[in-house]
Amino acid sequence: MNYVVRLTDQNISFEANEKESILEAALRQGLNLPYGCRNGECGSCIATIKSGSYSYKAASEYTSQNKLENNHILLCQARASSDIEIEARIVDTQTKIAIKQFPARVKISEKLNDSVMRIILELPKTESLEFSPGQYIDLILPGGKRRSFSLANPPHEDQIIELHVRYYDGGLFSEYAFKVLKDNSLMKIEGPLGQFTLQKSERPIIMVAGGTGFAPIKSIVEYMLEINDPRTLHIYWGARVETDLYLNKMVNEWVNKYPHISYSPVLSDVDAQSNWSGKTGYVHEAVLEDYSDLSDHDVYACGPPPMIDAVIQTFPEHHLREENLFSDSFEIAKN
Ligand SMILES: Cc1cc2nc3c(=O)[nH]c(=O)nc-3n(C[C@H](O)[C@H](O)[C@H](O)COP(=O)(O)OP(=O)(O)OC[C@H]3O[C@@H](n4cnc5c(N)ncnc54)[C@H](O)[C@@H]3O)c2cc1C
Repeated sequence: MNYVVRLTDQNISFEANEKESILEAALRQGLNLPYGCRNGECGSCIATIKSGSYSYKAASEYTSQNKLENNHILLCQARASSDIEIEARIVDTQTKIAIKQFPARVKISEKLNDSVMRIILELPKTESLEFSPGQYIDLILPGGKRRSFSLANPPHEDQIIELHVRYYDGGLFSEYAFKVLKDNSLMKIEGPLGQFTLQKSERPIIMVAGGTGFAPIKSIVEYMLEINDPRTLHIYWGARVETDLYLNKMVNEWVNKYPHISYSPVLSDVDAQSNWSGKTGYVHEAVLEDYSDLSDHDVYACGPPPMIDAVIQTFPEHHLREENLFSDSFEIAKN
């Protein structure tokens, strides 16, 4: 059954059926409502319900802990069960690329260190994946479960897909990626997804990556280099130990070649025997030690949820405006 969803402050309406989330319905019809993980975890898609009824497709952390108040609903989880009115903004990501499913073949899978695998997927010759730097894809696993991975290659390399996959002990996909996946294996992907993309601006940029959160940062930087974007870039990459900085050499090569790029690797787990002479501690603290006033900057942050939460909580205290902070949180899927 189809219902009408009306966005009250924009006077825009679209149809949603009872089998899809309101977010899925909006994206399917080209309406860019805000979202992040699409798992009911990150809270980016919270909207306010004005009238009508809905049900949740699965209990989320938010719903089970009753964190949603003041008529707030999670659009990635809520399905309309009547005509419905909501208050939600439309995001202008400067791109309207259709989301499609593709078959893809593993061209290369190689370990970048003990816990990160680079997987290069190749699309059929007749296909190319149009995307904006910083976006992600979903791998659709046998049985229909999904895992999201940021695209690490820039959009001009549109025949391949580069992923940086971190190993999780007991993790459904990462166990498979590290122990079973072979060259030429077939995968199903859907994309492009996500709203973490390079924005038009003339402001200098600070990039904050945590672990494999470096993947979309790499895509954005390589895109900026391709189009000769003149903005200055300061890249912070946080990791536990030095070997976790799995493409450290490549970033240092950028720094040596391009005077507008600087780089601060930051380690949180340095022991007494280490000869590490760089920054230590949490990566967001290292940024704030260098920049007490962020009012002139754009910040792009990507990585594990605790790092993103720390950035969102502390950077505004250092005068970073909400509209100048762009982030993607690597939430773990719930199923
Ligand atoms: C937008 C987005 C982009 C992302 N991009 C990347 C990326 O570029 N690179 C990357 O590495 N990751 C990325 N992620 C995270 C990624 O999608 C996966 O969540 C991650 O790889 C773990 O998936 P998995 O199947 O290996 O592990 P899962 O099966 O999801 O398990 C994760 C962890 O939970 C534990 N676990 C699982 N089931 C249980 C249980 N029943 N009880 C207790 N513990 C359990 C596992 O042992 C494991 O340690 C991204 C996430 C999002 C939302």
